[in-house]
Amino acid sequence: MATKVNTPVDVRAFINGEHVSSTRTFKRENPAHPDEIVGSAPSNTREETRAAIEAAAQAFPAWSKTPIAKRAELLGRAAAKLGQNIPEWKQLLTREHGKVLWDAEGELGLAAMLFAQGTGMAGALQMEQRIEDERGRLFINRQPIGVVSAITPWNYPVVLALMKVMPALLTGNTMVLKPSPFAPLTISKVATTIAEELPAGVLNLVHGFAEVGEELTTNPKVGKIAFTGSGKTATHIMRSASDTIKKVTFELGGNDPAIFLEDADLSEESMRKLVVGTFLTTGQICMAAKRIYVHESIYRPFLDAFRSVADQWLRIGDGFHPDATVGPLNNKGQKEYVEGLVEDARHNGAEVIPVGKILDEETYRTGYFLQPTIITGASHTDRIVTEEQFGPTVPVLTYKTEEEAVKLANDTVYGLTASVWSQDEERALRVAQQMQAGSTWINTHSLGGLDPRAPFGGCKQSGIGVEMGVEGFLEYTEFRVINAPTSGVLPGVPV
Ligand code: NAD
Repeated sequence: MATKVNTPVDVRAFINGEHVSSTRTFKRENPAHPDEIVGSAPSNTREETRAAIEAAAQAFPAWSKTPIAKRAELLGRAAAKLGQNIPEWKQLLTREHGKVLWDAEGELGLAAMLFAQGTGMAGALQMEQRIEDERGRLFINRQPIGVVSAITPWNYPVVLALMKVMPALLTGNTMVLKPSPFAPLTISKVATTIAEELPAGVLNLVHGFAEVGEELTTNPKVGKIAFTGSGKTATHIMRSASDTIKKVTFELGGNDPAIFLEDADLSEESMRKLVVGTFLTTGQICMAAKRIYVHESIYRPFLDAFRSVADQWLRIGDGFHPDATVGPLNNKGQKEYVEGLVEDARHNGAEVIPVGKILDEETYRTGYFLQPTIITGASHTDRIVTEEQFGPTVPVLTYKTEEEAVKLANDTVYGLTASVWSQDEERALRVAQQMQAGSTWINTHSLGGLDPRAPFGGCKQSGIGVEMGVEGFLEYTEFRVINAPTSGVLPGVPV
C-alpha cells in the first residue's frame, strides 16, 4: 500500500487574512476506517460567519477596482502554488473523502489546471463595450456583484470550490467559502494557500452547519450565492435568498441517461468508458451515468460486455490499496441511502448483479463500502430509476424505438448530462440534440470528457445558471449600462 500520513489535520477558518480558531470544532472520520479520525474543522458560529462576510464586504471596493490583469496575476501566483502541494494533499483527500489515491490526485490536478487556465479568461471576458454612432454614446459594462457566498458539496470538494473561487475573484468579487462538513480538510489547505496570496478579506473560509448556511444565504451584504449540492438544499437556499433577492447559480443533482443505439460499439474500450463513467469515485459524481437504456436487440451482448469489464475494473478497497479503483461511500448516510435503493429494486423483483472484486473483507465490513451492482429488470417507476443514486449501482433498461429511448431518457425532473452511443455519429448527434440535458456526450460519459471552454450546467431541476466557459465567468457580473443618446429609436418619442 502507498504510505499514508496519519497525523490528525486540524484546520481553522480563514477570515480577513488570518487563521481564526474557534471554540467549537467537529471531527472528520476516514470512511474506509470510521474509527480513524482524520482531523477536525471549526463549527463556526453565526457571528464568525458574519465577520467573514464583513471582511469580504470591506475588501470588495479595492479588489473590484484592481485592474483585471492585476487580479489575474495575483490569482496566477496562487495557481502556481497549488501544483506543488498535490503529493501531500492527495493523501489527505483520500483519507477524509474515501476516493482512491489516483482519483484524489486526479481531482487536485484538475482543480489546479482549471484554476490556472481560468486566469487566461481575463482577456476574453469583454467586461466593457463602448458603442459610438449617430445615436450617441452607449457604454455596456459588466461589474462584479459584490460578496459571493460559495457553498459546496463533498463529492469533488476541491474542484467544485475552485470552479467558483476563480471566476468570482477574477471578475472582481470577494468571497466567503463554506465547504461540506463531509470533506472539509483538503479544501481548507487549498483555499488558504490561495487566500494567502491575495489581499486580506478577498477570500475567506468558514466551516460548519445550519447557522453558517443560514447566515451566508440571508445576510444582506451577500449579493450572490454560488451553490453546488442537492436540489433539497437548493430549495432552502432559494427561500433564504429570496428576502434580499440574491443572485444564485445552482449546480444540482442529475439522473443522467446513457442511450445505447442498436449500432453502439460494445468493444472492451467502449465498455471501459461506460464503466468509468458510471463507477468513478464510487458513482458519487453528479454527471455519472445513472440510467442505461439499451436497444432490445443488443441487450444480451451489451450486458455481457458491460458486466465483464465492470468485473475486471472494479476493485473495492481502501483508497490507499494500490489495486483499488472503488473506495468506500463518503459517509454512512449515503451508504444507507444507496443500499436502500438497491434493496427497494430487489424487493420489486429486479435482479441485482454484483460486480467487481472486494480486495480486503475486513476493511470492507468495517468501512462505508458497498459492492457495486448492475440492476436489470427494474421498472421505469422504481426508485433506482427515478432517483439520483449517487453511488456504485446502475439500472440497465431496454427500449424498442429511438423515440421511446428519448422519451424515457427525458422523463425526469433532472437535466444535467446525458450520453448517446452509436457508431453512426450523425445519428447519435440527432438523438443528442433531443436530450433535455445541459451537456450530452457522444460515445463516452465522462468527467474527463468535459471541455472547460463550454458552459456546464443543468436543465430543468438540475440547476440555474452555468459554470465554466466565458458564460460561467460572466455569471459573477451584472450589467451597468450608461447611455448618452443624441437620438432615440422610438419614432416620435423624444430622448
Ligand atoms: P448537500 O446539498 O447536502 O450539501 C451541499 C452544501 O450545502 C454543503 O456544504 C452543506 O453543508 C450545505 N448546506 C446544507 N444545508 C444548507 C442550508 N440550509 N443552507 C445553506 N447551506 C446548506 O449536497 P451534498 O450531499 O454535499 O452533495 C451531493 C449532491 O450534490 C448531489 O445531489 C449531487 O448531484 C450534487 N452535485 C451537483 C454537481 C453539479 O455540478 N451539478 C456537482 C457535484 C455534486
